[in-house]
Amino acid sequence: MSCDFLALAQPGVQKLSPYVPGKPVDELARELNLDPAGIVKLASNENPLGPSPKALEAIRGELAELTRYPDGNGFELKRRLAERCGVSTAQVTLGNGSNDILELVARAYLAPGLNAVFSEHAFAVYPIVTQAVGAQGKVVPARDYGHDLEAMLAAIDEQTRVVFVANPNNPTGTWFGPQTLADFLARVPERVLVVLDEAYIEYAEGDELPDGLDYLAQYPNLLVSRTFSKAYGLAGLRVGYGLSSVQVADVLNRVRQPFNVNSLALAAACAALDDAEYLAESRRVNDAGMLQLEEGFRGLGLKWIPSKGNFIAVDFGRDAAPINQALLQAGVIVRPVAGYGMPTFLRVSIGTQAENARFLEVLRQVLARG
Ligand SMILES: *Cc1c(COP(=O)(O)O)cnc(C)c1O
Repeated sequence: MSCDFLALAQPGVQKLSPYVPGKPVDELARELNLDPAGIVKLASNENPLGPSPKALEAIRGELAELTRYPDGNGFELKRRLAERCGVSTAQVTLGNGSNDILELVARAYLAPGLNAVFSEHAFAVYPIVTQAVGAQGKVVPARDYGHDLEAMLAAIDEQTRVVFVANPNNPTGTWFGPQTLADFLARVPERVLVVLDEAYIEYAEGDELPDGLDYLAQYPNLLVSRTFSKAYGLAGLRVGYGLSSVQVADVLNRVRQPFNVNSLALAAACAALDDAEYLAESRRVNDAGMLQLEEGFRGLGLKWIPSKGNFIAVDFGRDAAPINQALLQAGVIVRPVAGYGMPTFLRVSIGTQAENARFLEVLRQVLARG
């Protein structure tokens, strides 16, 4: 009899469902014998512009140094982020993507017997990092697909150490305004760490969303997480960051792997921060693409959830799995969200004008077939 290594895993891990990523282009090409060049992928909220040329140049400049370990303290990137965000470098934690930051929080602050509060339809990584350390996830029912912050406050108990909130949220695109955040922060117990996940904030700046940084000085229990994966177009490099009180940053830096952000990512992120033009173009393409998709959905008689991200969840009012299958057959990859409790929806990342048009045309044909 060999050992049952599933039964030997800690109980939280045994019950974990692994994260389901968007289908890679090459995988679909292999499965259906399609030309990868003809496939449109709107499934992982990636930036459709390709990386910033400045980031690419910085990466090339760094290649000869690959024999060396990266700067484990990320001095230069931290310096620039601190300057940009109006905080001290001691308040910055760098991560291998912002998912790494979420995991550091869980490892530092959660354990069996403790819990984290998050919303129904919230980002899938919150339950994963929570369960992975043996803590309990308390899922609070959403309101109109968005976070019900009142109910989340009510769910906090003596064993709660972390509350995860995403603004805007993925996969719903829902958001809350500055007053809602201010009221929430004022009422969360001081010992509970609020992780405000702002992965899409660059798409929404100045757009009725609060800037989490405005609250850092007042709330030592606030951590704002951000990423270079979305508007900065560097998802493949894996680099994100947390901004918090010095004490929380110090704790996270204790559990972090010494070289969690690689040298190419450090260099590219510094360069991307300086490329204001690229960021503005990302925002412009996203705004235009959002309107294009909304217009297309309206024409097809479909409902959607208004979104402040670089994606939109569209509702077919029936099981969306067959529609997803038909889109895949035609070489269009979007994201099913049944795993998020939204089986009648598909989440579509905003692409270029041409990609959006291709998706809408294929969708029209799929729906016409019934
Ligand atoms: C994409 C995303 C992230 C960022 O992931 P990275 O690890 O930085 O690539 C974080 N939170 C949410 C809600 C996201 O959708």
